[in-house]
Amino acid sequence: MAGSTRPVGVLALQGDVREHAQVLAGLGAEVVLVRRPADLASVDGLVLPGGESSVIDKLSRAFGMREPIRDAIRSGLPVYGTCAGLILLADRIVDGIQGQQTFGGLDVTVRRNAFGGQVDSFETDLDVPALGERPVHAVFIRAPLVEQTGPDAEALATLPDGRVVAVRQGNLLGTAFHPEMTGEHRFHELFLASVRAGR
Ligand code: GLN
Repeated sequence: MAGSTRPVGVLALQGDVREHAQVLAGLGAEVVLVRRPADLASVDGLVLPGGESSVIDKLSRAFGMREPIRDAIRSGLPVYGTCAGLILLADRIVDGIQGQQTFGGLDVTVRRNAFGGQVDSFETDLDVPALGERPVHAVFIRAPLVEQTGPDAEALATLPDGRVVAVRQGNLLGTAFHPEMTGEHRFHELFLASVRAGR
């Protein structure tokens, strides 16, 4: 219905907030930087940026955002998380810092810093059938891996060796890599499509 659209949000506690906001604005969305519960209440979808998941976790608790975000996810708010954002969406994490929590929602186990130590960062082209024929150029920066995918979560992309790096479950979308850094907009389009469907 014209006139009823509300903005989408980018959680703006830490991380590559601006890059996501630019991609979303470029796709025609009105974007709000979400720092407080009132900001969250004003949006129809939320992006959890890349950054440092343990810091975003701590800040979300300090800002009183953890419970509102968990509740919003449970209520079906469309959420897209990249890298640290994927970790924050996972129901289970391996190699978090002591006491690290997630918002949860995605029925997956994610290993934090899964490539750390050997190769912290790398780029590769991925087939993502849900996005069409053109491969996705993916940048991995101290990236997590999806180690286990529960029955409700769907793998959208894997590395050549079969390890899962993008998942979808209902209104939730997560990528271990950073489309917002490479001019790849199709994941954000998928997110905005589920925002429109949810309105
Ligand atoms: N290693 C980071 C974490 O644990 C994620 C890195 C990223 O978002 N590029 O949150």
